[in-house]
Amino acid sequence: MKTFSYILIFMLSLLSFPDSMAQAYTDLYELKGYSIKAYYSPGNEERAKVIVGRCENAIRYVSGLIGFTPKVSLFILNPEHWPKHATFPVYGMPHYPDSERLVIASEDNDFWKSFIPPLDQLPGELASKIRKAYTTSDGTLSMMAFFDLLALHELGHGFHEQGGLTMQRLWMQELFCNIMLHTYIAEKEPGNLPALEVFPEMVVAGGTTGYEFTSLADFEKRYDQMDPKNYGWYQCRLHVAGKIIYNAGGPRTLIKLWNGLKENKEQMTDEQFASFLNKKISREVANVQTDW
Ligand SMILES: [Zn+2]
Repeated sequence: MKTFSYILIFMLSLLSFPDSMAQAYTDLYELKGYSIKAYYSPGNEERAKVIVGRCENAIRYVSGLIGFTPKVSLFILNPEHWPKHATFPVYGMPHYPDSERLVIASEDNDFWKSFIPPLDQLPGELASKIRKAYTTSDGTLSMMAFFDLLALHELGHGFHEQGGLTMQRLWMQELFCNIMLHTYIAEKEPGNLPALEVFPEMVVAGGTTGYEFTSLADFEKRYDQMDPKNYGWYQCRLHVAGKIIYNAGGPRTLIKLWNGLKENKEQMTDEQFASFLNKKISREVANVQTDW
């Protein structure tokens, strides 16, 4: 009788704990067949496959350039599961709750839709660019395509944090991710360049009125304390810079930047950093600091 109980307990333990990680996310399904660990809310398998497949492609491409692969687990969540696993309160903002877990929204949402300006108040050419880049499969307008690409920006943080790079400045940390994102899209998914470029260009073309902070020095000082709209403006500037940098130097600039920030661990002054970027990386990267 006793032996039977032991066997039963042993067999139950095999059934209940096939994978220790899966135990932590009992409300989610695990996506199989990919090199990245991924979990998704029920009903989102197809969307999870698209997102995880793209992240896998981006990681493979960037790893091939720089020779480093970060560890990452993806969470593709519906609005119900978001509060349970995410740390950023607004549904739709891709982010890392810790250095390895990346949270992404599975569904279109009000946050993404809120970035579409009233098109009837814009010049006709810009309105049609926006319509072309951001019309979703159900025919509505949303910044979904842009935010899906932002998930790849977040992957960039996984690369530099786990790769042990010294980023010198917070703006460089963000610029690095945008150069990586732009390089991958331009090289591997050029059809998605409009989704990546139109929104930031529109925001930058709108000027600086209404933003409390606009200098790089303020970005360093106020990184955690500015309103999201102001932070978004800086990101848009850094997206546009990422495009200029890629267009001038191609994927080589990303490789040089990775190696340069990996090899140089001493903190640099503004003058030293500008000179390092100009001499070792590229004039266009240095210009972000000197011609901001
Ligand atoms: Zn970032």
